[in-house]
This record gives sequence, structure tokens and C-alpha cells, in this order.
Amino acid sequence: MARKFFIGGNWKCNGTLEEVKKIVSMLNEAEVPSENFVEVVVSPPFVFLPLVESLLRPDFQVAAQNCWVRKGGAFTGEISAEMLVNLGIPCVILGHSERRSLLNESNEFVGDKVAYALSVGLKVIACIGETLQQRESGSTMAVVAAQTKAIADKVSNWTHVVLAYEPVWAIGTGKVATPGQAQEVHLELRKWLHDSVGAEVAATTRIIYGGSVNGANCRELSAQPDIDGFLVGGASLKPEFADIIRSLT
Ligand code: PEP
Repeated sequence: MARKFFIGGNWKCNGTLEEVKKIVSMLNEAEVPSENFVEVVVSPPFVFLPLVESLLRPDFQVAAQNCWVRKGGAFTGEISAEMLVNLGIPCVILGHSERRSLLNESNEFVGDKVAYALSVGLKVIACIGETLQQRESGSTMAVVAAQTKAIADKVSNWTHVVLAYEPVWAIGTGKVATPGQAQEVHLELRKWLHDSVGAEVAATTRIIYGGSVNGANCRELSAQPDIDGFLVGGASLKPEFADIIRSLT
């Protein structure tokens, strides 16, 4: 079964009200392939989610950049998965490497978050990826398999999961993985899903690449058979995001 391309724009902790409105206008005017070919999701900071959701073209969706690990309550500063559902936000990014490293989110914690978000009806972009040190020591596959296993241990239905392979050394560095490097890990991940979860999940789960994707390198990456789209950081704030979407056809 063909997998529909998926592209996420992670705006991270960027933007003023004025800048956010400009980005949305730019997206609304962009000529991109139909939603039958590519699913586009943009992820503004929490405070701008309702505004972006209300202004954004209907063929694009919005995602939060995080949510709390279980039902809301006395967790000051957190945003619950139920709140996102209540606001009509369909999707959430979980396990981004910036949260794993800066906020010490463990594999198990991310697995719990993914399971909880799915249980309330959110779609999840679940991020995994190795550091430079881990790659250089030859443990890339062991690292991403352990991160994926922590999710697989808690999740039985993968229909609403998109797996984002984002090598940490490529995020925000301008040092993109080569198409060969990315394809190698995506293929291994698909084999891991096949052997550890099941053939159907391996065949249907979108595995997208993230890490310094831009208008110049996206076409070669998207031509790889196991790359089903991108999670884009810096370039998702610029008009070149539309070029990256167009590369997925
Ligand atoms: C990201 O933050 O998920 C990301 C891929 O960032 P960038 O595209 O800027 O490397």
C-alpha cells in the first residue's frame, strides 16, 4: 500500500504575533500539491495554536510541539492532550531531541506520552535520532531501535503515528544527512518495525526525515524509497517550505 507523503513544519520557540500572521499568509498563498498527495502539518508555539488554526488554509493542519504525559491536573506550566483535543488541534510532536536533551525526556517518558496522546485521539509525530557521538561509535541503529521500542512497548495501534528520524547532529546545524545515510536508517527502522511490531505496521507507517532539510537538498532526500516526507525546522519559517512541499510529488 502506498504511503502518503507527510511534511511537518516545526516552528519551535519562534515568532511574534506579526511574524506568525506573515508565515500563515505565505502558506495560504503557496501553490502546493493536493492533500491527496501530501499531508501538511505546521506546528507553532502553543500560544499561537488557536490563531494559526483559525487563519490557516483548510488543507493544512496544525500540531502542538508537546503535551503532558497523562490527564491534566496539578502540573503547572503543562498543556494536556485533552486541551489540544478540546481546541480542535489534531496532532502533536513528541520526543523532539531538544526536549530529550534539554529537558531530560527519557525513552520511556516519550513512549508514555505517545501512548497517552493517541489514547485521547491525537495523531503523533514521534521523534527519534542519534547524537554525533552515538553515530561515530557505531550505535545509531541500537539508539533509534531503543527509542522506537519504548514507543512500541506502549502502543498497539500505529495508524496515527508518524515516525520522524532526526539525527541530532543534523538538527539546526546545516549538516544534513546524505540521502544514503538517511535511507539506510529508514530502511533499518522499517525492518525493525517489521520484525518487532508487524509487517502491516512496517509497510504503512510513514517514516519522515528531519535535520537541516531545505529547498536545495529536499528532492534527493525525498527520492529515497523509505523517506516518506520531512520534519522541517528552520526552513519551515520561510517561503522555501513551499518548495520542500512541492518536492514531495
Ligand atoms: C527540527 O527541529 O525538527 C528540525 C529538523 O530542525 P532543522 O530543520 O532546523 O534542522
